[in-house]
Amino acid sequence: MLECPCGQTMMLGPVEELAGDQLWGIWTCPDCGIRIGGEGTPKDFDRLIEAIIWTDEAQYQVDRLPPYAQPFVREEVGAFSRQQQHGVVTHARMIAAQNKGVVAWSPEAEARLANVPAAVRAMAKVELERTAIDRSLPEVTVPLMEELKARYFGLAAGRT
Ligand SMILES: [Zn+2]
Repeated sequence: MLECPCGQTMMLGPVEELAGDQLWGIWTCPDCGIRIGGEGTPKDFDRLIEAIIWTDEAQYQVDRLPPYAQPFVREEVGAFSRQQQHGVVTHARMIAAQNKGVVAWSPEAEARLANVPAAVRAMAKVELERTAIDRSLPEVTVPLMEELKARYFGLAAGRT
């Protein structure tokens, strides 16, 4: 949620998906009309949104569906967004919602996950799938695992 200097809550929209996992949105003050543009990841936007908002791309995908299917998809995606605490619905998150949050894994990544110590496997799985959705990746891959592992390993090393 963004507050205008005048004290009014600014309204977000539209939101566009940029290359990679970046979004671009414009906040407008309904009272004085001040407009602020901002770029960030879906997670950044989640923190600044009160009501769920669909990106232009996600909206376009829903609008292309047969009219009878649209309310069902909107409801399904909305429920998934609330459950995941998503503020913004991207095309990738919409697909994830329709898959009931199930993210595909490459066979190599799946084999590697089996080798992750049981104590952290469930957490690693959730974090990897969440990151894949946020980045619009079609599946969890070994390079993604390597990248997140480096990040967590870096954090752990920093505590010593
Ligand atoms: Zn204002």
